[in-house]
Amino acid sequence: MSTEPAAPPAADAPRDFIRQIVRDDLAAGRHGAIHTRFPPEPNGYLHIGHAKAICLSFGVAREFDGWCNLRLDDTNPGREDPEFVEGIKEDVRWLGYDWHELRHASDYFEVFYRAALKLIGDGLAYVDDLSADEVRAYRGTLTEPGRDSPFRDRGVEENLDLFRRMRAGEFADGSKTLRAKIDMAAGNINLRDPALYRIRKVAHQNTGDAWPIYPMYDFAHALSDALEGITHSLCTLEFEDHRPLYDWCVDKVDLPNHPELWQPLLEAGLKTVPAKPRQIEFSRLNLSYCITSKRKLAQLVNEGHVDGWDDPRMNTLRGLRRRGFTPAGIRLLVDRVGVSKQNSVIDYAVFESCIREDLDASAPRRMAVLDPLKLVVINLPEGHEETLVFANHPKDESFGTREVPFSREVWIEREDFTEVPPKGFKRLVPGGEVRLRGVGIVKCDEVVKDAGGHVVELRVSLDPESRHGLPGADRKVKGTIHWVAAARAVAAEVRLYDRLFDVPAPDDEGDGRPWTAHINPDAKRVVQGWLEPAAAAAAPEQRFQFERLGYFVADREDHRPGAPVFNRVVTLRDTWAKGA
Ligand code: ATP
Ligand code: MG
Repeated sequence: MSTEPAAPPAADAPRDFIRQIVRDDLAAGRHGAIHTRFPPEPNGYLHIGHAKAICLSFGVAREFDGWCNLRLDDTNPGREDPEFVEGIKEDVRWLGYDWHELRHASDYFEVFYRAALKLIGDGLAYVDDLSADEVRAYRGTLTEPGRDSPFRDRGVEENLDLFRRMRAGEFADGSKTLRAKIDMAAGNINLRDPALYRIRKVAHQNTGDAWPIYPMYDFAHALSDALEGITHSLCTLEFEDHRPLYDWCVDKVDLPNHPELWQPLLEAGLKTVPAKPRQIEFSRLNLSYCITSKRKLAQLVNEGHVDGWDDPRMNTLRGLRRRGFTPAGIRLLVDRVGVSKQNSVIDYAVFESCIREDLDASAPRRMAVLDPLKLVVINLPEGHEETLVFANHPKDESFGTREVPFSREVWIEREDFTEVPPKGFKRLVPGGEVRLRGVGIVKCDEVVKDAGGHVVELRVSLDPESRHGLPGADRKVKGTIHWVAAARAVAAEVRLYDRLFDVPAPDDEGDGRPWTAHINPDAKRVVQGWLEPAAAAAAPEQRFQFERLGYFVADREDHRPGAPVFNRVVTLRDTWAKGA
C-alpha cells in the first residue's frame, strides 16, 4: 500500500463527483490511501444494478492505488445462503475485480456487542420493552415528533444488566430491543431512537447458535466500515437519510480511540486499523426491461418463469454471463451511465449497444445458418469440396485466418431467397444473382418445390470468372449472403433470446396487472441450425459474430464441441427501436 499521493489519472479517466472527492482528499493528505468496500447481502445472486456499485467501489480503489474489500453483510440470520456467498465471489471476479480482503459482518459480532455496551455505559443506548407496534406508534410522523418510550430513562446499570441478559438468551424474540438514545423529535425519523439490536433466536450460517441477538443494519454497517478502515463508503441514494445515523454510530462508538472494543479481532488474526469512514451516496442503476430486486429475481426462479438464476434471460450477472454478455461490455455500460446523484432509467438499448461495441471488436467471425434452405451449385462436379481461407475479423488482422470448407451443396438462410421480392430486396430471386460470401456470384436457375408448393431447394450456377481472387471477382451484384457447406456443416441447438419483459417498466406499468404478467413469452426460442466446423469446435463461453445474424456464445453449461449449443447474445442491430 503506497502512502505517496496517487499518480494523476489518465486524461480519459472518469471524472465524476465521487472521484473528485477522492482526488481532493488525497491532495489534502486526508488519507494515506483510499479504502472502499462492496457490501452485498448474500440473500441472492448479484444483478446488473450491483455491477455499478462493484465497478465504482473496486474501480475507484484501483484507479487511486488503494484497495477494496468484499464484505458479506450477513446480519440477517436465516435469509442467507453460503451458495450465494460463493456465487457473489465468482461474479465479482468475473466482472474483473479482486478484493483486498473477504470479510463477513458476522466476523464482528463480538465487536458490535462491545460497542453496544460502551454506548449503554455512555448513556447513549437503552433497552426498550415496547413491542414493535408500540415503537411504531411512538415514532411520530414526518410532521409530528415522536414520544419518548416509558423505558427511555432506565439507568445505565439496569440497561447493562438487561442487555447482557438479552445476549444470554433470557428473553423471547421481539420482547426487547436495544435503542440508540438520540432524539425522538428529530426531523429525520432515522434519528428517533433507532433500534441497534433485536432478539432473534435463529441460527446463523457462520456463528451458529452463538447469538440470540443480532445488530441492525445501520449500526453494523457503520461499524464494519470503521473497523475495516474504509475511507470512502459508497452506497446508493436511499441511504442518504441514514447518513446522520451512520455518522452518529461512527462518532459515538469511536473505534479508532477504543482498541479494547476490537481486541477480539486481533486475537482472531484479523488485521484491522479502524478509521473514520465517510459515506457518499450515488444514484442506482435502473435499466428498462430489467428487474433489479433480488426478491423479484428470486420469484422468477422459484415460480419457474425462468430456468434458474443463470437463465440467459435473467439480468443477474450469472444470467448475463451465460447469455454471453461480456465483463468489458458491462463495465462500458457503467462508464457510459456515469456516476451522479440524479435518478434515471437507462434504456436497455444502451446496454445492448455497449455489448455490441465490445463484441464487434473482440468476437471472431464465423458462418452459421439458422433457418436452412439447400442451395446446389449445378456447374460444380458431384461431390465437389474445397477449402477456402477466411479472415477471422474484418477489421483486425491479429485474429488471423481459418479454413472454411465449401461444397457443391450449401445451406443458406431461407429468408435470403424469395419468389416475390418486396421493393428493395437485394438477395436471391428466381433468375437473379447474389454473391456467396467468399466464393463468387451465383445465379438462381431453378427453384425446386415439394408437392405442397414449398421451396425445398435452389439450383444455381456459379460464375467461374467471379470466384474469389479472380479478375471478375469485383463484378458488382446487389447482395452478399452467407452459407455453410452442407457436406461439412455441424448441427447445433441455437437458443434465440430476447428481452424477458415486453414492457419497459414491468414492475411499474401502473396497469393494475402483476409485474409477472409482463413476461415476454417469446424471450426464448430454440432452433436447430448449421454451423461451419470452426464454430462448432468452440470451447464453452467462446463468443462469435455469426455473420449477418448477431453475436452468439457457446453455452457454458450445455455446449460440447461435438454437440454444439449456442445462445444469441444480441442481434447486430437494435430490433426494438421504433421503425426497425
Ligand atoms: P435488493 O434490494 O435487490 O436485495 P440490495 O440493494 O439490498 O438489493 P445489497 O446486496 O444490499 O442489495 O447491495 C449491495 C450493494 O449494491 C449496496 O451498496 C447497494 O447500494 C448496491 N446496489 C444494489 N442495487 C443497486 C443498483 N441498482 N444500482 C447501484 N447499486 C446498487
Ligand atoms: Mg440490501
